Amino acid sequence: MEQLLRSFFLFLSRNRMLTKLAKKYGLQFGASRFVAGESVEHAVKVIKELNRNGLDVTLDYLGEFIDDEKEAEEVARHLIRAIEAISTSDVNSQLSLKLTSLGLDISEQAVMQNMKRILEAAEKHQVFVTIDMEDYSRCAKTLAIFKELKSRYDQVGTVLQAYLYRTVSDLEDLQPYKPNLRLVKGAYKESEKVAYPDKNDVDKNFKEIIKMHLLNGNYTAIATHDEKIIEYTKQLVSDHQVSKDLFEFQMLYGIRPELQLNLVREGYRMRVYVPYGTDWYGYFMRRLAERPANVAFVIKGIVKK
Ligand SMILES: Cc1cc2nc3c(=O)[nH]c(=O)nc-3n(C[C@H](O)[C@H](O)[C@H](O)COP(=O)(O)OP(=O)(O)OC[C@H]3O[C@@H](n4cnc5c(N)ncnc54)[C@H](O)[C@@H]3O)c2cc1C
Repeated sequence: MEQLLRSFFLFLSRNRMLTKLAKKYGLQFGASRFVAGESVEHAVKVIKELNRNGLDVTLDYLGEFIDDEKEAEEVARHLIRAIEAISTSDVNSQLSLKLTSLGLDISEQAVMQNMKRILEAAEKHQVFVTIDMEDYSRCAKTLAIFKELKSRYDQVGTVLQAYLYRTVSDLEDLQPYKPNLRLVKGAYKESEKVAYPDKNDVDKNFKEIIKMHLLNGNYTAIATHDEKIIEYTKQLVSDHQVSKDLFEFQMLYGIRPELQLNLVREGYRMRVYVPYGTDWYGYFMRRLAERPANVAFVIKGIVKK
């Protein structure tokens, strides 16, 4: 049943007509539990509140289905405005972005040009930018672009996914760049030709890459809501006396907020991934697919109307 609901929400997340409708009618059905608002001004208010509670932020502008270079340039302009807003409002926030929203599927030249403009602004305002990792078909391209950008700009990092067989070798390959990496389990539906189908193998590989990256002395963001992985990391850093300045935990906005605050109280750096924008619908459906139990929030949202 859970599997069925998951597939259903993933199917809904890709529906273009529903995406358009959602844009027209604004944040609905309890989506504001996971999305900080439709404008950067709303998002800044949410960031301020999180910062007051000791939580750092990475801001994510939600964009889906880019069809041409003009739309990708528009997203880049928007992201530059978001960097400026972070800087002028003096909040503690980084930025996360997806290369597909900047033209990855259109042309390499387009995505590189957009990324360079964004990273010029990021360097100027000292706002760190993480390139999210998308599905397997984009992984090699994303890493190649990251390497090229990282050799020119400091304020950039990316993500590696524990479910992919290739990740340990990617991590080794990235070492010369001393990268700041976010490590995650992986969010996309991948073939077992490229990704571990068994959750236990994903967790084992996750622990392996956390250990490798941390003990190499590189900055590591452990992005998970899984308490077993969090406990593993705490033990690892304590055993190897890794400074708390060298790593952080990350979680999504609206998911396990108590656990987030507990980690802050224990003295760990905790960053919340805060999405905003009018294209909230696909993101919201993917969160429901991850955990169909969250559907209760949707039902409450509808009943409240
Ligand atoms: C900050 C951040 C950035 C990310 N960036 C990327 C990226 O760039 N690319 C990518 O592929 N993936 C990314 N992900 C998603 C990641 O790959 C996983 O799909 C996602 O985090 C779920 O895995 P988990 O590690 O939390 O563990 P899971 O094993 O999925 O969950 C562990 C426990 O966490 C709780 N939980 C998990 N999800 C939810 C939920 N939706 N609602 C309520 N409770 C929940 C449950 O108690 C669950 O038992 C990111 C995740 C985070 C937190």
